[in-house]
Amino acid sequence: MEKQQFDTKAIREGYRTTGEQEHSEAIFLTSSFVFDSAQQAAKRFSKKEPGNIYARFTNPTVAAFERKLAALEGAPACVATASGMAAIFATIMALLKPGDHIVVSRNMFGTSIVLLNTIVAKFNVDISYVDLGDLSAWQEALQNNTKLFLLETPSNPLGEVVDIVALSKISRENNILLAVDNAILTPALQNPIALGADIVIHSATKYIDGQGRCLAGAVLGTNELIEKIATFTRATGPSLSAFNAWIVLKGLDTLSLRMRAHSDNALKVALWLTQQNQVERVYYLGLESHPHHSLAKQQQSGFGGIVSFTVKGKRAAAFKLINATKILSITANLGDTKSTITHPASTTHYRLTEVEKKQANISEGLLRISVGLEDTNDVINDISKGLLV
Ligand SMILES: *Cc1c(COP(=O)(O)O)cnc(C)c1O
Repeated sequence: MEKQQFDTKAIREGYRTTGEQEHSEAIFLTSSFVFDSAQQAAKRFSKKEPGNIYARFTNPTVAAFERKLAALEGAPACVATASGMAAIFATIMALLKPGDHIVVSRNMFGTSIVLLNTIVAKFNVDISYVDLGDLSAWQEALQNNTKLFLLETPSNPLGEVVDIVALSKISRENNILLAVDNAILTPALQNPIALGADIVIHSATKYIDGQGRCLAGAVLGTNELIEKIATFTRATGPSLSAFNAWIVLKGLDTLSLRMRAHSDNALKVALWLTQQNQVERVYYLGLESHPHHSLAKQQQSGFGGIVSFTVKGKRAAAFKLINATKILSITANLGDTKSTITHPASTTHYRLTEVEKKQANISEGLLRISVGLEDTNDVINDISKGLLV
């Protein structure tokens, strides 16, 4: 078939009819599959014949989601998981062994850091943290036993970015796998594999679902890597449910349309914020004032929906603003059609010490908005109420 553009693949890839001529993908709510004969069962178990056995291993609805996401990320293979955290955990457990070393960007998603420090560390995996955008820090962190670079770009909430092409040169030269958590931009706005990454990880809970309905995750890469990770999920159980797979499959159909709208709306909100007296600083990658704007412009095809800003008056002013809003949802979740607002210092980043918060620029006046798909004028009006009190 001719090479298709992203939007065509997002809508057309992955689909296979069950024979009932259904136009929308079917949901296979079944835990197991039956065989025509004892012989067929034996062939399936011994892998002499491909096919479904049990939903912890494979499920047709889950497989449709995996095929579609793989097409969008430009990856040969994909394994879906029950959540983004399950995807990160499965990747680490499947690819590392005790005594290995992993280099991680310091500003990754909070629970990823908790997972690494409290669970992965118990398996005698050595972990070093570096500043995301500092290429020499990644190089200097290398040890003889380094196996994996793990990062998230852009970071949340401040939008720091690393040059994936440059970092992948370092990882390749040193025989290290480069894994990128692409939940914040999705394949609609950034393709880490095309830029040299080996593995892409997703929390599909965020923009891929896009409507805050379910948890889901995925890992993408070569057939060989994904087979190892799928062996881990099949044996340990964080498989994606067919129902949730169907939800995120439908999310992919409209992904690029939504990501463009999130980006357009976020830019409008960010520009408006820069003009407010009570606002000290706005962090949005789409603003030329953002220190990583030009790099983001080069490796991303949009800037996404996350806008952060600091208000004068520290925590008191930040809490007042949050409590004055009527439309924005007070929740730490992101990537929803509904705009959400949170105070990182007391929620997503509350575990950090004062020194760590200072290093990470998570100040008491900082607020993060995940700009949704409501009318932007209403969202701006809502924020302005909070700035006035
Ligand atoms: C939310 C999130 C995760 C965790 O995903 P869950 O689906 O909540 O388990 C991982 N990485 C990033 C960047 C996230 O935003």
